Amino acid sequence: MSFSDFLFPKRCVECGEHGSYLCESCIKKVGPPRLACPMCSRPSIDGMTHSKCLRPHSINGAYSLWGYNGVVRKAILGLKYKFASQIAEDLAEFVINNLEKSKLTFGKNARFTTIPLYWRRENWRGFNQSELIGRAISSKLGWDFKPDLLKREKFVKPQTELRGEERRQNIRGVFALNSKYQLTNQLINQSLILFDDVWTTGATIKEAAKVLKRAGAKQVWGLTLART
Ligand SMILES: [Zn+2]
Ligand SMILES: [Zn+2]
Repeated sequence: MSFSDFLFPKRCVECGEHGSYLCESCIKKVGPPRLACPMCSRPSIDGMTHSKCLRPHSINGAYSLWGYNGVVRKAILGLKYKFASQIAEDLAEFVINNLEKSKLTFGKNARFTTIPLYWRRENWRGFNQSELIGRAISSKLGWDFKPDLLKREKFVKPQTELRGEERRQNIRGVFALNSKYQLTNQLINQSLILFDDVWTTGATIKEAAKVLKRAGAKQVWGLTLART
């Protein structure tokens, strides 16, 4: 037990049970997401892109672990504020258990990256919550974590203020490969997992996947904690 556990005992963010920020019984109540092909939004196994929907630069699939409700939603919102790194650790445990039960295999050499935030927003929050949990997951699974693969090219409106087609327009051209990876061809034939907290329309992750595919990545999968 650490000093901070003594001062602030861990309690489930949903039911208040002691021991963890997410308890087993509340996690069980959060239903699985409706997994679908990221291109046509029709159902697909594990969120894989249908072969007829796949284009040269499109994402290969998008897997989410939970619906965006209950304890998962509260923990994701909580990540933005208090005890973020401890909540991230607890969430990462459940992510790994859940992934082990799925049929997905990303392989030992998978590389893990996240969607970059605006530096301004990041500074204001003090951290990037996806990076925090991405780091926790990859260190447990032995994946190579490259949080700086992508960078923001331009400043756009927050996606939460926009809907459907507007989101797609807004995000176009927003990401670029970080210049330190541009000359090294490090992505050629690589499998990459693009991590984010919540999949809403998928516009952001699909746009980021396109940049990674153009840089030579063979497979790009989206992985999100939750899906609305
Ligand atoms: Zn609970
Ligand atoms: Zn499809």
